[in-house]
Amino acid sequence: MKFWKIKAIKAGTIKTTIGDTIRYKSLDVPLEINSWFVAADDGEHKVLIDTGIDGNSIEWSRNNIIETVYQDETQHPITALKKETGWNAEDVDIIINTHLHYDHCGCNKYFQNAKIYIQRKEFESAFHPVKAHESIYAQRFFDKNSISYFRWNFLEGEKEILPGLICLPTPGHTYGHQSVLILTENGTVCVAGDAVPTVRNINENLETGVSVDSSKVIESMDAIRIRADYIITGHEPNIKENSFTSFSKLAG
Ligand SMILES: [Zn+2]
Repeated sequence: MKFWKIKAIKAGTIKTTIGDTIRYKSLDVPLEINSWFVAADDGEHKVLIDTGIDGNSIEWSRNNIIETVYQDETQHPITALKKETGWNAEDVDIIINTHLHYDHCGCNKYFQNAKIYIQRKEFESAFHPVKAHESIYAQRFFDKNSISYFRWNFLEGEKEILPGLICLPTPGHTYGHQSVLILTENGTVCVAGDAVPTVRNINENLETGVSVDSSKVIESMDAIRIRADYIITGHEPNIKENSFTSFSKLAG
């Protein structure tokens, strides 16, 4: 069995409030969150889980989505990926998007050789979002003008894409959200996207502040606890470096 090597890479920050990551809590308490994407390599395939925020569209994103999104030039995913892994954009074979909010698929378009995997339900619902999600599903980052329709690979449920690389539906934050389970020599790491925005959410069983289905959020966190040993959350604020080697251990 081959193991995957993985690296979490920071693609900018968003100034928000605790209420954004934890429902019903402290809507007025400021919180700066990071935006993470992950590079995974099994010695044969180069895979990204999510592609972060596109700094080239940062002014547009501030004007149309959230005015407190930041990215310095070293944090643009193309630049940060090269620095952290040595990969060029054209080296990436596969992108798995957890979901299609602007801060998770913003740089898909730069990876021209990559096949992109998404749950069909996520792709379809992204074009018909609930009112509260309209701006964060910025279609310019995933519509046909940005990504050829034929580059998408649609999943319907759980799927092992490659040995040790599993897409696991984890709905609740969005209708078609998925997480990725990756087998490493230290155990199974879950790249959770916004199914679990911060480690505090899963440790204290707290629903994210942005969701379409509260009960599914909790069910998805239960599924992750059962299946994974470690977790990389989508917006962990308490890690300052651009990569980390010791991921948060999940309680059994
Ligand atoms: Zn999201």
